[in-house]
Amino acid sequence: MVTAGKYIVEGYVDSVKIIEKLSNAPGVSGFEDAVVQTAVNYLGKSFELEEDRIRNLFIHHSLSKKNLPKVMLDAHSDEVGFMIQSINNNGTLKFLPLGGWNPQALSAHAVKIRNTKGNWIQGVVASKPTHFLTPDEIKKPLDISTMVIDIGATSKQETAELFHIKIGAPVVPDVKFSHDEKKGLLFGKAFDDRLGCAALLEVMKHHIKKDLKLDVYGVLSSQEELGLRGVNVSVRKIKPDIAIVLEGTPADDTFNSNDAVQAGLRKGPQIRHMDKSMLSNPRFVKFAIDIAEKNKIPFQEAVRSGGGNNGSVITLHDRSVPTITLGIPVRYIHSHNCIATMEDFNNMVKWCVEILKNLNPDMIESF
Ligand SMILES: [Zn+2]
Repeated sequence: MVTAGKYIVEGYVDSVKIIEKLSNAPGVSGFEDAVVQTAVNYLGKSFELEEDRIRNLFIHHSLSKKNLPKVMLDAHSDEVGFMIQSINNNGTLKFLPLGGWNPQALSAHAVKIRNTKGNWIQGVVASKPTHFLTPDEIKKPLDISTMVIDIGATSKQETAELFHIKIGAPVVPDVKFSHDEKKGLLFGKAFDDRLGCAALLEVMKHHIKKDLKLDVYGVLSSQEELGLRGVNVSVRKIKPDIAIVLEGTPADDTFNSNDAVQAGLRKGPQIRHMDKSMLSNPRFVKFAIDIAEKNKIPFQEAVRSGGGNNGSVITLHDRSVPTITLGIPVRYIHSHNCIATMEDFNNMVKWCVEILKNLNPDMIESF
């Protein structure tokens, strides 16, 4: 018996709707416009919203008091995708990845390309039918530099004049979000980091109350997948005293043996002690873990040899900003089709809110 939705509380239906919109929004690095617009539409009137020139969105609740220590909640708005590099004479498109992709996970998948008129054109990452494959080709791993996207054109001229596609066009996976309500399962693209964005919006929209001893700034940072670029700009504007990064984190429970799993579905949000890019402030980590235990919020701890996140930039800002990174486990991250659960999402929102409620200026100084 699946115990989905153990923590389904107020805002559940609302949460699924915003997750759906954010997941479906096309927004590779540098082209996060639809994600920002979705967030702005969702937040409504109680917020001061500001966008900078790299597409970072700053969210400040009118109830938040500006003379208190500043906490920065960060989630990145971009997703992994591609950019059209050149057009071949037969009408197919060469492309470069925006963000990290496993080349073996690309062939035969559907994509959408934005043309010069702003319309999204359907395409497929071409895959050679087995009939044409030589025995050597079958054994050889695929390489993105030899792949093309096919939009059904038959010449370079057609691609330009009928489809209006030029080089530099952004490309996103073509995947539609779906939700299995009974099992609390989410299927869709870009859960890294639209689940983090949705969690951030839920915290900002429903949980910023007058009695918080903090001034809370939400930031949807752009271009994370290209090397944490947007956050380099956003952290300088906020100048936070403390920060929480909300992520979609790679689930390992279908790859690792049981005792090595650090991001399993339905096991709660993950807190990172370290990844390749940062070491989380250990005192803040301990504080967050104590809060989770006290409130009976399930959580998972991770010590990762790889990975990277916006926290690495934030924590090195100014005289160092105590920073933790929380992540909703997402299976098959950085591919077309991701899987996550509503209970992990709800628990991350809950954990983040409890941390905010319990932080105060003295405590922040003690980290
Ligand atoms: Zn991410």
